[in-house]
Amino acid sequence: MSEIEQFDVLVFGSGTGGKLTAWANASEGLRTAVVERGLVGGSCPNIACLPTKNVIHSAKVADFVRHDREFGSGTAPASVEIAEVRARKRRMVDGLVSMQMDKYRESGAELVFGEGSFVGPKTIEVQLRNGGVRTLHGDRVFLNLGTRAAIPDIPGLRDASPLTWNSPRHSSVSEAVSPSWIVDHRCFLARTKMSPMLSWNFFVSTASMFD
Ligand SMILES: Cc1cc2nc3c(=O)[nH]c(=O)nc-3n(C[C@H](O)[C@H](O)[C@H](O)COP(=O)(O)OP(=O)(O)OC[C@H]3O[C@@H](n4cnc5c(N)ncnc54)[C@H](O)[C@@H]3O)c2cc1C
Repeated sequence: MSEIEQFDVLVFGSGTGGKLTAWANASEGLRTAVVERGLVGGSCPNIACLPTKNVIHSAKVADFVRHDREFGSGTAPASVEIAEVRARKRRMVDGLVSMQMDKYRESGAELVFGEGSFVGPKTIEVQLRNGGVRTLHGDRVFLNLGTRAAIPDIPGLRDASPLTWNSPRHSSVSEAVSPSWIVDHRCFLARTKMSPMLSWNFFVSTASMFD
């Protein structure tokens, strides 16, 4: 085990609650570190709430243009540049990540990139993303580790390596809005939040829906 580094506050996972906890405590002068394996700010700004709404907004614009005459304006036919839809979403995510990195710098909270695991009471060992190991101890430790998608027990489903929102094969379902993915993948199992986003894909690919 590497030498143990002492922190007043240690936050495990940099999701919404974790990062705000870290920024607030560090701003008060407490020595604070956040352990994060990859997503600065967690799922919401990177692969979940915000990028999906960004893509849905593009679909809404295309829909308005497609029905422009119903609104009494416009003549242009709607066209969809899926690569630009994805690029626009990526620009938004990059901007959010950069804004959060500024908050880490301003508050003084340290963001430690790597895979963490508990190795003792209030003690986390981090396999650093860029190599090496750090061992961090916090007087107070906050957990913000999120969730993982469950694969339901449907025969054959697990073997098909389905894409979920935290699938390692693609960085996210919202990232799946790419020409190659749409051509190659046509079976969606989705309910609730995912449905509107997938319906976006229906604009540009052939799809059938079974309830
Ligand atoms: C497609 C989609 C759309 C959504 N839309 C909405 C919406 O519109 N509105 C809404 O309210 N909610 C929405 N949600 C749900 C919302 O995104 C999640 O509930 C929320 O982001 C979870 O936040 P969290 O902070 O609990 O976890 P996360 O944001 O997942 O944060 C946990 C962090 O911990 C890190 N981590 C985990 N284990 C380790 C480890 N061992 N070492 C280091 N780091 C680790 C992860 O990398 C991650 O960054 C959506 C979800 C999805 C999938």
